Amino acid sequence: MNDPRTIAASVVGAVDWQTEVSGFCRCPGESLHTHQNGKKDCRVNVDGAPTIHCFHSSCSMAVEAANRRLRRELGVSSWEIALPGGLVLRSGDILRTDGSVLQRHVTNGTNATDANERLVLETVRVNAERFRPELFELFHWPFAKIVEDSPLQVHQRDAEDQFRTWLRLWPAHCHVWIGDVFSSGKPEHKTNFRPIADWYQIGPAMGNYTCGSSFKPGSFQRSNANCNGTRFLVIESDTLAKEEVGAVFAYLNQRLHFNLHAIIDTAGKSLHGWFDAPRDKRIESRLKAVLTVFGCDPKLFTYSQPVRVPGAYRDGKLQRLVWLKS
Ligand SMILES: [Zn+2]
Repeated sequence: MNDPRTIAASVVGAVDWQTEVSGFCRCPGESLHTHQNGKKDCRVNVDGAPTIHCFHSSCSMAVEAANRRLRRELGVSSWEIALPGGLVLRSGDILRTDGSVLQRHVTNGTNATDANERLVLETVRVNAERFRPELFELFHWPFAKIVEDSPLQVHQRDAEDQFRTWLRLWPAHCHVWIGDVFSSGKPEHKTNFRPIADWYQIGPAMGNYTCGSSFKPGSFQRSNANCNGTRFLVIESDTLAKEEVGAVFAYLNQRLHFNLHAIIDTAGKSLHGWFDAPRDKRIESRLKAVLTVFGCDPKLFTYSQPVRVPGAYRDGKLQRLVWLKS
């Protein structure tokens, strides 16, 4: 019977195996790297949907081609690996980080597309667990550096400037909600839902919160059904420190090419990254799986969730933009 690790090595060269199924290798597109190479930049995984993952983005075409070859060559052979404890891992199964095995054929009863997407999602999740330590190492972006790196500078003590600068993230026609968490649901809350131009005149005094989504004109309830048009995905973490969450923002922006518009200091423990929302449901579910593994909060995929608005004070401290795209 074939050993998948031998097949993988025939595609990517020597592999420094870290587990039975996952190890570091030389990136198939290393010559295209525009940043310095490191030993942990590229990983190959033979379980689930076999995947080569490199932290550089300039090599993506070469990595994709190698991925197709890896999947083709592993796809035609059936293999088994004996695991500690008498477990057996077969082609298409996934070795979870806790040592348990997710069998390929657990998806009985769903159609082939759903089954395939489940396999991809589970693979994405497990691979994210495997490369989580490298993420924080390679994309290290501490708070002071975020502020220093900002392409545009915003006055850090000027509440008015903070608020008006943030308004510019939105197209002029958008209706945006600003208020406190409970300023929603009754007709009188229509005043909390206004076009950008109106907010420009009023200021953030109506509350400490906003949403990453714009709403239908005339809305008075902050609900997903009333969201329309422009949408940001706001990413935060309850568990990662300010010094750590920057790595997630940098990875999404630089490596996965999710457009980062702004980073907001909530005047509490966390930072919020404002990104373009994912293009479709499939990408969104994969991103959600990855972010959950990294320690970010999946509730922010509820687009009507309140988030801190820049220019308002929280216990005497200013909620503010610390990084802003030019
Ligand atoms: Zn690479």
